[in-house]
Amino acid sequence: MENDCLLPALPSDASTPESGSESPYSTASVYLKPKRSRPFYGRHPWVLDSAVSHVEGQPADGDVVELISDKGKWIARGVYNSQSRLRVRLYTWNPAEFLDEPFWQQRIDAAIDLRTRLGYAAPDEGARLIFSEADSLSGLIVDRYGEYLSIMVTGQAMATRIDLITDILTRRLKPRGIFLRTERGIVQAEGITLPDGLYRGEAPDGLTFIQEHGLRFGIDLGIGQKTGFYLDQRENRLAAARYLRGLRVLDMFCYSGGFSLAALAHGAAKETLGIDGSERAIVLARANAELNGIAGAHFEVGDAFRQLDELNARGERFGAVILDPPKFARSRQSVNDAVRAYHRLNRMGVGLLEPGGILVTCSCSGHVTREDFQFMLSGIAQQTGRDIQILEQRGAAPDHPIASTCLETEYLKCFICRVS
Ligand code: SAH
Repeated sequence: MENDCLLPALPSDASTPESGSESPYSTASVYLKPKRSRPFYGRHPWVLDSAVSHVEGQPADGDVVELISDKGKWIARGVYNSQSRLRVRLYTWNPAEFLDEPFWQQRIDAAIDLRTRLGYAAPDEGARLIFSEADSLSGLIVDRYGEYLSIMVTGQAMATRIDLITDILTRRLKPRGIFLRTERGIVQAEGITLPDGLYRGEAPDGLTFIQEHGLRFGIDLGIGQKTGFYLDQRENRLAAARYLRGLRVLDMFCYSGGFSLAALAHGAAKETLGIDGSERAIVLARANAELNGIAGAHFEVGDAFRQLDELNARGERFGAVILDPPKFARSRQSVNDAVRAYHRLNRMGVGLLEPGGILVTCSCSGHVTREDFQFMLSGIAQQTGRDIQILEQRGAAPDHPIASTCLETEYLKCFICRVS
């Protein structure tokens, strides 16, 4: 119904749109090539440059634009970026909705309200408050760590509006400090020029701390990985712990010790060996074990593949192996290489397992599907002659929702398996 509308009229109080500002009103229209409109009627928010036929008007990067089909029908409204292959990010399919401050406020409020409903609003906990497309806010990730916010901007559209966004967040949440985190690849792909580090308010004196299932974790906001902590694994740490009673656990890619500490505190594991390539991560993991008064947690710096080889050469065996590597596939082209790397890693992990052991294996590569991952595991079962029973197939915690119209928002897989 909305799709049949002609270009929507501006509201009567609209001022003349200023190019390059964060004006809520469009300065231009982006026309699609024939046969390229379908995904956008289907509410997918990414308009790639290859789908664009031409642009009417001269939008600056960050300007609001209208998306029009090749037949001249209005489809959606979004934000333009000439520097990105992702030429337009779409934000509304309602012609009466303008991308003004009340619009962003309402989107941000809805995202935060959902986390409250999920039970992720305790002031001393951490939560992903906004997860980009999954909250209809393409290009914006906001994590809360107690009284601090850590923002990752992944789209120019949000970079242009960062002050508006931080104003809205400040009014609603009154954080002590807001940090901006940037990732080199994304910044280059989008042409974003934002600083990295404290953006508003004050920084904590040293680490800041959050609770997760009753355990305390130190977070290094300025320089920690990602926005500071892997919030997406929150429920998986607890789920995995339930299988680990009395077991000796290898926690490969342990970062700040999340899986290890949950295994010992909630799962009554016998002892854990956590390994990570980052020395800072290991210092943090050891500090977290001490902070929680947990005995039996050992942490070492090391390269995963080399350590797996050495442990095997020494004839070490574990009752459980947890594998939570960084993203192996950065693009669709690298899926085959990534699957091979997952295969090698998991094969080595399975080799260290005692008969009947537990394998907790994860992948955060969105391009590697659940089916790819299952197929990889079945290959290992065939080659090793050991049965791999999948006990639980899990994803990210519910503060990282999946948008049904943008399945790229599904990325994390966490399989809990028993290996014969
Ligand atoms: N399991 C962690 C999150 C792991 S994220 C948690 O629950 O918090 C992936 C980790 O892999 C990062 O901490 C990174 O430092 C580490 N890493 C990356 N490459 C590695 C390698 N080759 N060997 C060991 N660790 C590596």
